[in-house]
Amino acid sequence: MEGRKKGIELHLKGYPICPGVAIARPFFFQTPEENVPEFSVPHEKIDDEVKRYYRALKNSRKDLLFLQTRLKKEGGVEAADILDSHIEMMRDPMMTEQVEEEIRSKKKNTEYAFKSVILEYEQKFSKINDNFFQERVKDFQDISRRVIGHLRKVGKCSLTTLSRACIVFAHELSPSNTVEARTDLIEAFVTRSGAETSHVAIIARAKGIPFVSNVDFPDLSLSLPPQVIVDGEVGEVIINPNKETIRFFQQKIDQRKSEIKGLRKSRILAPSTSDGVKMHLSANVEMDDDYAPLLEYGAEGIGLFRTEYLYLAHDTFPSEDEQFLVYKKMVESVGEYASIIRTFDIGGDKLGNVHISRYEKNPYLGCRAIRLMLRERAIFKTQIRAILRASAFGELAIIFPMISGVAELRSAKEVIEEVKSDLLQEGVPFARKIPIGCMIEVPSAAVTADLLAKECDFFSIGTNDLVQYALAVDRGNPSMSYLYNPADPSILRMIKMVVDEAKKANIAVSVCGEVAADPHFVPLLLGMGIHELSLSPSSIPIIKNVIRHLSIVEAQKLAAHALTLTTPLEVEEALLALYQTIASRFSSS
Ligand code: PEP
Ligand code: MG
Repeated sequence: MEGRKKGIELHLKGYPICPGVAIARPFFFQTPEENVPEFSVPHEKIDDEVKRYYRALKNSRKDLLFLQTRLKKEGGVEAADILDSHIEMMRDPMMTEQVEEEIRSKKKNTEYAFKSVILEYEQKFSKINDNFFQERVKDFQDISRRVIGHLRKVGKCSLTTLSRACIVFAHELSPSNTVEARTDLIEAFVTRSGAETSHVAIIARAKGIPFVSNVDFPDLSLSLPPQVIVDGEVGEVIINPNKETIRFFQQKIDQRKSEIKGLRKSRILAPSTSDGVKMHLSANVEMDDDYAPLLEYGAEGIGLFRTEYLYLAHDTFPSEDEQFLVYKKMVESVGEYASIIRTFDIGGDKLGNVHISRYEKNPYLGCRAIRLMLRERAIFKTQIRAILRASAFGELAIIFPMISGVAELRSAKEVIEEVKSDLLQEGVPFARKIPIGCMIEVPSAAVTADLLAKECDFFSIGTNDLVQYALAVDRGNPSMSYLYNPADPSILRMIKMVVDEAKKANIAVSVCGEVAADPHFVPLLLGMGIHELSLSPSSIPIIKNVIRHLSIVEAQKLAAHALTLTTPLEVEEALLALYQTIASRFSSS
């Protein structure tokens, strides 16, 4: 990233991930393992240091036993086994004698000695190209996070404990860090890595937190500047801004606030084209939260509840009753509207601090989402029970993530039938007709949409993953983002194919990937026959505004033309041309 000094101001460029401007003091967020202090310990204090280490080991073991009991209760058999191996590893002489020896011989503080031993093993094992050793590296990382957490009196590395509003700088953020971020305390995020459709980006957008990634910022652990500015619209970070710069960006903040106020007023307007074709706009939800703001933004229900965040936020699976209360509250809050609950989509980059799956070299192509749930049946059944119980309190539908073919869909549906018959026997009430949907986010599902359509009630196209899997580009890798493009002709063809098959089978089809919130892309989706979008609530007013200034004829013409184009760039140019025409109508209406 280029950086240039302007007096004492430092301007840094990055990728704009989430729009919005913030001015605040910075906070350098480091995980306890990233920030291990090193100091010498006087001879007479060495015994205390060793005791401190064994105490941390004991407390870590206690944590694991507690988690294990809970997981076993929830039926997470494999996950409980993994924790078994961690408990065992903590008894290994490497973890006990070798660390003690390191403290005594080097006369260094415990966390430093422990981290040195762990690092040595991690490095040794990382070089061995064998799954067994790669799994051990992951185990070391898990154990090290936990033990250092106890040594540093930080049970869990979290963004919830900030005392004042600030802009968070971090090397990298995990989805669980972001999910627990409080919007009243975090003004913006700045990271060294991260891509636009990564889950961290999706959560930041859902929370409306401005975010710039891929910023090569200076080492803030040495000295923190009093103030920084983040412009998430253009991807700029300004360290030590002068008064004039602050004034300029303050005006931008005020202007944006009044724009948002104006757009929010649009909630009472119908999301229909100028010639009366309606688009249904529902919300993507990641948090067990207050649902009133969704309706304020004009959402007509919940089109995608990413339930995996319940797991990511708590580091373990919520119990059946805990989940039931979350789903019940949700269906009740949206009143007459429907809610679509997606079963846990865990894996890929959505891994919590307690890993429930084994090490995989290629987790995006591994045991993710429905595959993991079909393996961890008890966890899956617990979730389905909770969802079905909530169905007695409002309209809901269930959708399965990452379905790759009919056989998988059938297996998942069988689990629902089994749970239904259990509930019937127990006399527990639930809605008898619950629509079952299929995420279309794997190319094999898109090309077998005709087969899937016969066996489910609706489709939701997850373009974030569909693009990743169709173009073989990691959605979280910013260096490959030049290839990650939903405007690729292959994606357009797949969307069209899915829409056509859904129509033939007379089932509903929506889009819930990030393109549903892209003002350039939405006219194309409408033109291809999509009449339902699920998107981040804060984007609803913007998308509604686009739809209201567009006619169905224009949208269909765009789609017909775009489907004849050969490169993503040509498609993007066509999208931009129509968008400019639409935008020219905004001010005159
Ligand atoms: C998608 O893949 O488009 C999607 C909506 O699911 P997620 O972003 O949670 O993977
Ligand atoms: Mg997905």
